[in-house]
Amino acid sequence: MAKSTNTQHWFEVKKIKEYLHVIRERLDEIDPRYLTTYTNLYLIIGTHSALLIDTGCGLFPLRPVIKDLILDKKLLVLNTHSHFDHVGGNSEFETILIHKEERRLIAKPHDISFLSSSPKEIVKRFETINYQFSPAKEIQTIEHDEIIDLGELSVRVIHTPGHSPGCISLLTSRCELFIGDTAHYGTMFLTKNTFPTSLKSIANLLKLFHKYENIEIYPAHEDFAVGKELLEELTKGIQNIDNIWDSRIRNDFLDAWLIKDNKFKYVIF
Ligand SMILES: [Zn+2]
Repeated sequence: MAKSTNTQHWFEVKKIKEYLHVIRERLDEIDPRYLTTYTNLYLIIGTHSALLIDTGCGLFPLRPVIKDLILDKKLLVLNTHSHFDHVGGNSEFETILIHKEERRLIAKPHDISFLSSSPKEIVKRFETINYQFSPAKEIQTIEHDEIIDLGELSVRVIHTPGHSPGCISLLTSRCELFIGDTAHYGTMFLTKNTFPTSLKSIANLLKLFHKYENIEIYPAHEDFAVGKELLEELTKGIQNIDNIWDSRIRNDFLDAWLIKDNKFKYVIF
């Protein structure tokens, strides 16, 4: 990067609402081969507790950034799922909440040696940790329908498997819907044999709009505060993949197929 990078410069912190911050990092500045520009972490601040959703890539210390925002409130930290771009800062925090399906994946060191061949110099920072994230210190599992109370604001856990088996989404009592990597604009990472599972999870999220029509969606990558058309467009997109299957190209680094339509790119394992 041209500018000198430290924790303050690395994370882009933006206050979206009085009680909601997005903390963004540039995944393409770490490794452009993931075809993704931004990772979005979110911080929801209630009257007595705050909830951090995901811990990013672990390239720069995250905890000081969060501490500055929540002061002395209790902090809960959750992983939407266990992929490297969401769990890198886990060991900076006391306890990590995750769905039981992915518990074991954050309980052991997480190898990220695949990043060592990134064209970006900045990944050399990972040499100090030998391209391995430390495991979470303590893990607590969370289940579908569980409510997390933050004080005058609560969050409901919704299990949305598909992108990975233990993906969770979160609906706040003020109608923000955090959906991890279940759906986002840009490049969607999917596994062909779990398309039905992904479609079912997306359909379940769409059902929430019958009950609460003013929901805003906050994905873990790229654009946020988007509407339900994201879920509708992705449903159509996934349903159409078989029809455009002949246009796929091989991506050797990702060891997957790459397909595009006019709304999304798909990396398909
Ligand atoms: Zn991701």
